Amino acid sequence: MSEVKIARIDVFQVDLPYVGQVYRLSGGREYTSFDATIVRITTQNGIEGWGESTPFGSTYVAAHALGVRAGIGEIAPKLLGLDPRRVDRINDAMDAALLGHEHAKTALDVACWDIFGKSVGLPVCDLLGGRTNVKLPLISSIPVDEPETMRKHVAKFRAKGYVGHSVKIDGEPKKDAERIAAALADKGPHEFFIVDANGGLTVETGLRMFRLLPDGLDFVLEPPCATWRESVSLRRRSNIPFFFDELATNDSSIAKLIADDAAEGFDLKISKAGGLTKGRRQRDIGLAAGYTMGVQDTVGSDIVFAAIVHMAQTIPERHLRCILDTRDMVTLKTADADYQIHSGRVTAPTEPGLGITPRLEVLGEPVASYS
Ligand SMILES: [Mg+2]
Repeated sequence: MSEVKIARIDVFQVDLPYVGQVYRLSGGREYTSFDATIVRITTQNGIEGWGESTPFGSTYVAAHALGVRAGIGEIAPKLLGLDPRRVDRINDAMDAALLGHEHAKTALDVACWDIFGKSVGLPVCDLLGGRTNVKLPLISSIPVDEPETMRKHVAKFRAKGYVGHSVKIDGEPKKDAERIAAALADKGPHEFFIVDANGGLTVETGLRMFRLLPDGLDFVLEPPCATWRESVSLRRRSNIPFFFDELATNDSSIAKLIADDAAEGFDLKISKAGGLTKGRRQRDIGLAAGYTMGVQDTVGSDIVFAAIVHMAQTIPERHLRCILDTRDMVTLKTADADYQIHSGRVTAPTEPGLGITPRLEVLGEPVASYS
């Protein structure tokens, strides 16, 4: 195989407006727009690879958009001249240049996988282990609102064919119990629900909410508390299945999740993991543990969604909870791709690499370039 080397890295910035008015999470957090960083890596022989990293504001996990671009500034000069297809070695170089800050490494890592696929004529999902024949179930994202409004919001996604719903709550026991009951009121036999507190519950408010819930509601509770200790404490006193998200980030937290028997699974968010290379390892750790996994990202546009789809397309059906169509949360389209979408389900593109064509006119001029 002929030599492939990173010759140039361009960084683009776009704002992704939220598709509704205001997205509300527990703790009074509000979001109206998301600051996206998109990277183009060009090789010496003219192959282009694309990646995106879009934090959910600055208050969701320890990530923020200015940090993404500052982090890329630390890392990018160190990647020039390296072979982007040696993805583990690329990650060694990124980790040697900057400790942590996985969200900054994500766009670069994903762009390397895009180049890898294009250089050998294979879609990224085949390089990640091989395509399953699963039609990936999409999950909705229902922000905190009045119970009946949330019920209608779920119905809107149900009408589009969605079988999975992520319902946000905000930490007020009585109101949250009403929200959950309303959101699940019309649950169909093949639907599943995740109730997501985004770290907004204390052990006390969580226990009170459990007592106020009607019996027999079928859902999984996502990272209920802000700290590991609280989440494990609440879990020990509940028979509700738990999923970890904000507290499960790097390999060591996922190893601890297994050691503490703290959950039934976790959300593999590409930018939380640091990209597809580290995400692939987390996937394999999760499979070894017998976990269920959702493949998502913090938020993002079409390029983020492509990375989600390729990763999810490699997880056997019984271990795959759902995927998040980040495109449904924002109004700006940054790339085109040939997805087969049928009734709330999607499959990965078959073109080499990520299988996306960025809309250059939307991205504008680079805000930084390294060569
Ligand atoms: Mg979550």
